Amino acid sequence: MPVRLHCEAHGVTVHLGDGLASLTAAANGGLAVRTDHNLEISADLVILSIGVRPETQLAKAAALTIGPRGGIVVDSHMRTSDPAIWAVGDAVEISDVVTASAALIPLEGPANRQARIAAASIAGRATGFRGVQGTAVCGVLGLTIASTGASEKSLRRAGLSDFQAVYLHPGHHVGYYPGAKPIHLKLLFRPSDGRVLGAQAVGEAGVERRIDTIAVAIQMRATVDDLAEAELCYAPQYGAAKDPVNLAGMIAQNARNQDSPLAGWSEIDGPDVLILDVRESSEWHAGHFERAVHIPLGQLRDRLGELPKDRPILVHCAVGLRAHIAVRILRQHGFDARNLSGGWTTWRHVEAAAESARAYLPEPRAVPPEPTR
Ligand SMILES: Cc1cc2nc3c(=O)[nH]c(=O)nc-3n(C[C@H](O)[C@H](O)[C@H](O)COP(=O)(O)OP(=O)(O)OC[C@H]3O[C@@H](n4cnc5c(N)ncnc54)[C@H](O)[C@@H]3O)c2cc1C
Repeated sequence: MPVRLHCEAHGVTVHLGDGLASLTAAANGGLAVRTDHNLEISADLVILSIGVRPETQLAKAAALTIGPRGGIVVDSHMRTSDPAIWAVGDAVEISDVVTASAALIPLEGPANRQARIAAASIAGRATGFRGVQGTAVCGVLGLTIASTGASEKSLRRAGLSDFQAVYLHPGHHVGYYPGAKPIHLKLLFRPSDGRVLGAQAVGEAGVERRIDTIAVAIQMRATVDDLAEAELCYAPQYGAAKDPVNLAGMIAQNARNQDSPLAGWSEIDGPDVLILDVRESSEWHAGHFERAVHIPLGQLRDRLGELPKDRPILVHCAVGLRAHIAVRILRQHGFDARNLSGGWTTWRHVEAAAESARAYLPEPRAVPPEPTR
């Protein structure tokens, strides 16, 4: 959602949750675009960025085995089903290092590494491709968007449910040094053993460095403890003594060891749930949940008697730090408290996404009239 908001702030109209239905030549010499929701847009230029399919005609003609995703099947040495033929790049099907499922990931990095491995294999050197994890980055109007490893969607598609998400919004460097820009970071990990599964991040600075760090961690099968312990560059103009990567690991660690368990924003409507907002009054007045209880963190110890011990309490602040402290206080006093991951900042993104989805709800279908008797 930060991407949509950033684009709109730059005067770009963004339509989400809709698809391209037709593209025709317009009378004025331009192009007429029609969407699935019957929106008509005239354009001078249309760029389709809707995925790619491997061109495997040659492979099929050579009777090579094609996999379930439509790519050429290769072993870890990039050798096809014909032992005299190796294949690399966009056309090959590779194992996803996180989900272990067959994947097609058309990126230049994997293609180059595969080529080196194929060459080594042809030369008789024992070496193997580890698989792909889809580490990717792109830029839009000064914003960097990067990801590595699994997303919630890809984990669900692979039938995996043992995962949890951490949301955080730290500055790309310490706040006291001028010019800090927020990084909106989501980390996915496996609660049962702490394995890092994936990460996505958006921000104006320092994004790709964090995703690259987590990418190596995923490839080395690291856990959130490894992220918490990672020793990374720090000087005020570059980062923080607790780098966003460390913080992501620490938050996940706190969730795993139950010091500060996390709650997802989809849980706020759960039965009996009480939402506790521990932000300052000025923040509360700028926007809050109508049904939330407001107790600023500084007053919490004196007002514990206002809270129930027989209901789950989901605590939030702006980004998660004050809520973490509140959760520690509450749990030490016997409350069933959890931290709403990423705080109000995450909620605003969740809301903006829901708003986009609502904007594109299909038109209600006309109900045919009841036949008259
Ligand atoms: C516009 C664009 C931007 C991209 N930007 C990035 C990026 O920023 N980062 C990134 O990681 N990836 C990027 N990619 C993806 C990246 O380019 C591909 O993943 C990479 O080039 C794949 O390498 P390849 O060798 O498999 O295929 P290609 O680079 O496509 O090479 C295949 C070659 O085989 C030739 N060929 C095809 N059929 C035959 C035949 N029958 N006989 C002889 N030759 C044949 C083709 O002409 C071509 O030269 C981008 C792709 C596009 C299209």
